[in-house]
Amino acid sequence: MDTDSHYFTIAEIEEIPARLRKTFRSGKTLPVAYRRQQLIQFGRMVQENRSAIEEALKKDMGKPRFEAGTAELVPTFTSIITALNNIEEWATPEKRKVEEWRSDWETMVYPVPKGCALIIAPWNYPFVLAFNPLAGAIAAGCPAVIKPSEHSPTVAALSAKLVRQYLDPEAYIVVNGGIPETTVLLNHRWDHIFYTGNPTVGRIVAEVAAKHLTSTTLELGGKSPVVVAEDCDVEITARRVLWGKVQNCGQLCVSPDHVYVPRSIIPAFTEALKRAHAHFYPEQVFNKSMEWGKMIHCDHHNRVMRQLEQTVGTVVLGGEVEGDTKIAPTIVTGIPLDDALMEAEIFGPILPIIPVDNVEEAINLIAEGPSPLVIYAFTNDEALQKRLIRETRSGSLVINDTYIQLLVYELPFGGFGESGNGTYFGKHSFDAFTHRRSFLHVPTSLDSTPLFQARYPPYTQQGYDA
Ligand code: NAD
Repeated sequence: MDTDSHYFTIAEIEEIPARLRKTFRSGKTLPVAYRRQQLIQFGRMVQENRSAIEEALKKDMGKPRFEAGTAELVPTFTSIITALNNIEEWATPEKRKVEEWRSDWETMVYPVPKGCALIIAPWNYPFVLAFNPLAGAIAAGCPAVIKPSEHSPTVAALSAKLVRQYLDPEAYIVVNGGIPETTVLLNHRWDHIFYTGNPTVGRIVAEVAAKHLTSTTLELGGKSPVVVAEDCDVEITARRVLWGKVQNCGQLCVSPDHVYVPRSIIPAFTEALKRAHAHFYPEQVFNKSMEWGKMIHCDHHNRVMRQLEQTVGTVVLGGEVEGDTKIAPTIVTGIPLDDALMEAEIFGPILPIIPVDNVEEAINLIAEGPSPLVIYAFTNDEALQKRLIRETRSGSLVINDTYIQLLVYELPFGGFGESGNGTYFGKHSFDAFTHRRSFLHVPTSLDSTPLFQARYPPYTQQGYDA
């Protein structure tokens, strides 16, 4: 790579895994002092380049500055600070209590780095989804390659520049490019692969990882449903659902994809959504003052629009388009289960409302489908909340809000089944890149004890009785 370029040639990429492995084998990334120093540098990287990162996010996807701050910069910085504040404790070997008769054996669990990690990130939150996992890798003592998405090229180029400037180049490297470059990386053996993106590529990653029996964290997508119960506060529910839907123009893995609403409250819920929309956007969203983002590229825009054009539902709000990448927040009612909007993750600012007779019907529909990344339910009925815990499966279950779970780093974040496996955030990020290695030291002096003598052949009845 020449110093101004943010891209490696294929030949250079081929050499990177061996370089990282050499660094790992040297033990350089192991001392907690080194990890701390890199985390401090990493924190400086985020803080000192805040404006440049916000600008890059604006350029790639029109991301409003507020969303860039709250959803990309703050969570990245928080994960770095959390790791810095806790790394000593997380990395400390733990003495395990054992049964009395084994109490003089040394029984420890060492949290050791898995080794060299590959982090593959998508375009929708291109900064935080590349760097939040990296905080875990650094804290765990793993060198890492970060592969940003080619669809957010400004953030990808900036990421390469900043990592080279702030972090140890022998241990942390950004490799930019698309499928050919990622394929080269995936053909090498890694000790952990952390992939965030769509489930189709998730399967490719899982397959290549299986060749080397490499562990993976797969943070995938899917259709995350909302269940609205009759007892909910309709006004707050509408506001919180719409708020989740408009984040990043619906291009959010935990976006409330579609809403199951009992028929009896659909009119009230729809009107409340319209009021929330009027409050959020007093002017047309395409007006400059509204800071409304865009679909990442024309192909994605066209895919979302195709779903909207094919729906048999009624557009009760929005539906407008500007240019070839901007879609206004859109609400569609009367959606049947086999509608075009129900075929795939929408990943755009379109909210379909599916009429159900009651919440039981919604629970059954969710329970029979693939397990989503998150289920949102709006209800204060504790019995219903317990039923949702018992009868459905998903990465997370969030009651009475949307999207906010991404700020609760104390809870593990991740999918389940079709929406992925493995978790991260806070201590869970450290754990994703850490192997818990058992250490057992059995004193040789014990060989003279009756128990040890009895274990060696020839076996005797006396030994058996002991
Ligand atoms: P994307 O197209 O940027 O792809 C993700 C990464 O995979 C990129 O780095 C890309 O270069 C790489 N890639 C693409 N095709 C590949 C191939 N054939 N072989 C190897 N690597 C390949 O992003 P995307 O997948 O469109 O992202 C959106 C999806 O990600 C949605 O489904 C969304 O729900 C999901 N997502 C999940 C989370 C989560 O935390 N669970 C977060 C964000 C997005």
